[in-house]
Amino acid sequence: MKIGFDIDDTLINLREHAFQIYKKKLGKNVGIEHFHQLKRVEIHEVFGLDDIEGKKMWNSLLEEIYFTNCPAFDGAIEFVNELYRQGHSIFYITSRPKKYCEKTRQWMKEKGFPVIDNQFYCGMEDGEKIDIIKQLDLDIYFDDKPAVLSTLKNTKTKIYIKDQSYNQGISYPRVFDWMKFQI
Ligand SMILES: [Mg+2]
Repeated sequence: MKIGFDIDDTLINLREHAFQIYKKKLGKNVGIEHFHQLKRVEIHEVFGLDDIEGKKMWNSLLEEIYFTNCPAFDGAIEFVNELYRQGHSIFYITSRPKKYCEKTRQWMKEKGFPVIDNQFYCGMEDGEKIDIIKQLDLDIYFDDKPAVLSTLKNTKTKIYIKDQSYNQGISYPRVFDWMKFQI
């Protein structure tokens, strides 16, 4: 099968990694329970930042957030490698900005994910992922983000959603734990 994955907050715990970086940079000891209650993808509100300040903070720390030691979710690396070993084609579709694409691809390899160079798609807008998913005719696709998932309703691709506090309103089958998940 052709199986596609979003990266951030689907396979790796990027927002929580960013939350820890924000805590240090801002010197604010915000409890993790506040993070887990967030109803939107953006994390700045728990630090008392407005949307403009939050966007500025995120953009100024982007390289550090992306390319330091962000952990994969437990079992995610093993899950994707097992699919690869079984002979499935693995695709990554990430809307990280174009200038970080090459470095992200390399980072994913170093992390231990199976990455085929020409099966790594990067630098599109959230709403443009659907074009690639259709073009590739993926059998299965995993993502976490409401803005992406809302565009995928009429595809024949089987969609799974990585469970997150901000995507509870969306009704696709969920991945709660990569260690226990089976297709
Ligand atoms: Mg994501």
